[in-house]
Amino acid sequence: MSSRRSTAIAILVSLGVVALVVFGDRIQREVRHFLVGELGDVAVARMQRLAADDDSDHMAAAEMITLPILVSEPAPGIFAASGVGNTFVIRTDDGDIIFDTGLIIQAAKQYDLISEQLDSLKPVKIFLSHAHADHVGGVRIWSSPETELVASSEFLEEQRYLTELNPYLHQRNRMLFPWLPDEPRELPGMNFRGLKPDTVVERGRPLRFTQGGRVFEVWSLPGAEGADNLLLWLPEEKILLSGDFFGPQFPQFPNIFTMRGEKVRKPIEYIESLNTVINFAPRLILPSHLVPVQGSEQIVADLVRIRDAVQWVHDQTVAGMNEGKTVGELMEDIRLPPQLSLAQTHGKVSWAVKSIWEYYATWFHFDRTSELYATPQSAVLADLASAIDHAKVTVGIDAAIERREWERALHLLELLEGDEILTEALKSRWITVVRALRERALANEKNDYELYWLDAQLRRLEQ
Ligand SMILES: [Zn+2]
Repeated sequence: MSSRRSTAIAILVSLGVVALVVFGDRIQREVRHFLVGELGDVAVARMQRLAADDDSDHMAAAEMITLPILVSEPAPGIFAASGVGNTFVIRTDDGDIIFDTGLIIQAAKQYDLISEQLDSLKPVKIFLSHAHADHVGGVRIWSSPETELVASSEFLEEQRYLTELNPYLHQRNRMLFPWLPDEPRELPGMNFRGLKPDTVVERGRPLRFTQGGRVFEVWSLPGAEGADNLLLWLPEEKILLSGDFFGPQFPQFPNIFTMRGEKVRKPIEYIESLNTVINFAPRLILPSHLVPVQGSEQIVADLVRIRDAVQWVHDQTVAGMNEGKTVGELMEDIRLPPQLSLAQTHGKVSWAVKSIWEYYATWFHFDRTSELYATPQSAVLADLASAIDHAKVTVGIDAAIERREWERALHLLELLEGDEILTEALKSRWITVVRALRERALANEKNDYELYWLDAQLRRLEQ
């Protein structure tokens, strides 16, 4: 961006902040729309630059931001604005129903492109699939004082903890997604938290209503991306707006607990939710990421496969726990049988095993007494590293690398790193091991988060 343009934006932003404080509701909304549009464009351009500079062969999350926002009509009278998170507009004879509002930096553009194509856009209700940032970003762009905001009864609690823990979550996310800003930014008009739904939908008590001739059901069903997942079901048209109920892609193995560190997702609750959705037998799924999925026969078969895969992993984990197996043994042993095979790019079976184990057994693994106390093993690694013969450990590392026992090599490397002096010789062994783990990940599940983590390690080592 030229310095003249950035100065102009800075001045406009300052004027905008004044306007947000001084003027009435309608002008405030227009100012917010302008600010979100301008600041959003700057943020998107920055991410696109970083995504273009990165020559990694795995950039799944950043690639999404480089795609142009397009408007389509996946079903009669249902319009979608694509983006990192899609936004849907369902037209009725009595106003428009909005489902999800995308990422804040794309929301103004999504709104503008949809309103260019549809005359007299009149959002009467906004439904939020859950509290994640890529779904709630544009609520203040789409809503007016007359719009009813609807979410799950669990939404406020999810929004609360995501807000309170934002600094912690941001630092974790930043490590995985290096194109995020260093610190969580609080720019004027860009706050997308603090939402207060006008209506909440309780679990087991779906909201049924007719709007302008279209029939809707709204279900609060704990899903693959949190306890507050909300689904919009059009029973007469057999169309399901699924948000992230399945995760970012359909079908796939769900992310039972994220490794980013959000709250627990409960496998048995998810299985019950899937049973409800199987009974819908949708003919069209409109997810809030990627593209629509068609054909009820295949959809139901995939839904059943997801349900049975989660049940399989759950039951195998529980059986193994009862047999006295360790979590590591179960992570190694439990595999999906071929008929239940699913993509593991988002959720990964071995991590689900660990998640389910800890969901039931919590933090104490009944393994070592030191687990009960605050001093971690890493606290004594420095002592240990100075006491042991580095040359002998290095021979062990080389032998493990030779045998392609990457996980063993990793432990030995972590042991020596307690010494804090990362010699060039050790660094190159580290890089060999992380690259090998990365290749293994690419040859197997291609799990996005495993790759993001390994890429972060490579950035650290190759600095
Ligand atoms: Zn999402």
